Amino acid sequence: MDKWRRYADELQELRDKELYRTLNVLESAQSAHVRYQGRDMLMLASNAYLDMCNDPAVKAAAAAALAQFGVGSGGSRLTTGTASPHSDLEQTLARFKEREAALVFNSGFAANSGIIPALTRAGDYIFSDELNHASIIDGCRQSKAQTVIYRHNDMADLAQKLAVSGAQSGLIVSDAVFSMDGDIADLPGLARLAEQSGLLLMLDEAHSTGVIGARGRGIEEHFAMPGSVDVLMGTLSKAFGAEGGYVCGNATLIEYLKNKTRSFIFSTSLSPVVMAAARRAVELLAQQPERAARLQQNVRVFTAALREHGVAAASQTAIVPIRIGDEGRALAVSRRLFAEGYYISAIRYPTVKRGEAILRAALMSSHTEAELKQAAAAIAQAIQSC
Ligand SMILES: *Cc1c(COP(=O)(O)O)cnc(C)c1O
Repeated sequence: MDKWRRYADELQELRDKELYRTLNVLESAQSAHVRYQGRDMLMLASNAYLDMCNDPAVKAAAAAALAQFGVGSGGSRLTTGTASPHSDLEQTLARFKEREAALVFNSGFAANSGIIPALTRAGDYIFSDELNHASIIDGCRQSKAQTVIYRHNDMADLAQKLAVSGAQSGLIVSDAVFSMDGDIADLPGLARLAEQSGLLLMLDEAHSTGVIGARGRGIEEHFAMPGSVDVLMGTLSKAFGAEGGYVCGNATLIEYLKNKTRSFIFSTSLSPVVMAAARRAVELLAQQPERAARLQQNVRVFTAALREHGVAAASQTAIVPIRIGDEGRALAVSRRLFAEGYYISAIRYPTVKRGEAILRAALMSSHTEAELKQAAAAIAQAIQSC
């Protein structure tokens, strides 16, 4: 059994540092309220920002696709794994994002980790924000290009690093909304630097689609800069409540990625059931942009209520980070809130820096203002008493 010793030791080390992680098993659909350990809880940790996982119209689309297409897709996209729900979804996404074409991947993670090495080669440079998502980091690691990390959303630092490198080809890549801090990338600055340097601009809209912009269309709508991103990536697993990643862009980009992206080519495609559900969710947001407006109103109500209780909180997105610092204390606050019926997660190293643990509140369009005000009061209480 000795060959397992080092793994067991490492796990013990994680426990000692309050960094050990376990799985919470939910007993209901993902929604504003969930059932957990036999109790009803207010969900304040989900990425299902528009509460689409359990939406009746989305479920009906999934049921119809299940009846027509069955469960599995039977192959990779380039062999037998493209059914009409896959191509219908891609057309809907391209229209939604006002692009020539779109391509769906098996997850946002597979999209980022596949697209970045596909689009870059030896001699290129990749400029990547220091707080980018792990899937972007993995994509950079798999690329033969040289990766340069710039300070978080710092355009002066990026400009300086571009100039020093002399880079003439490659990629500037950033989260559109950062997954832990909830802040918005400086699209005007990024677009200007991409234009000046001749590099492609790639943004990850995992937490901006359905969340920012007057109709919830994402970062280009937020800044009124349509068409300013070359490689517009996102995920179907968050606001849209389904599964899968996607990229939107011009026809050259999409045809190139179909032919060159390993995570697209060598993996069985997602179920038609999930594709039909995702498409219905995109259509619903297009038809009912007030869903995004409700979410934005909830963010204003919740952050104002936290501030009234003396908790520093500012966010323009569904992600509201509440700084705690010490990992053990963040866990204690989160545990206390769980005991009171609030499902809210403590985020620790390595997701955030060591000693900079946060409570990450994530809001939904379907939370009521009364629920959010009560939650803000409970959070302030828990922080004071832990
Ligand atoms: C969640 C997330 C991903 C991965 O998307 P999945 O569909 O969950 O694999 C990629 N980028 C960011 C910024 C994310 O938050």
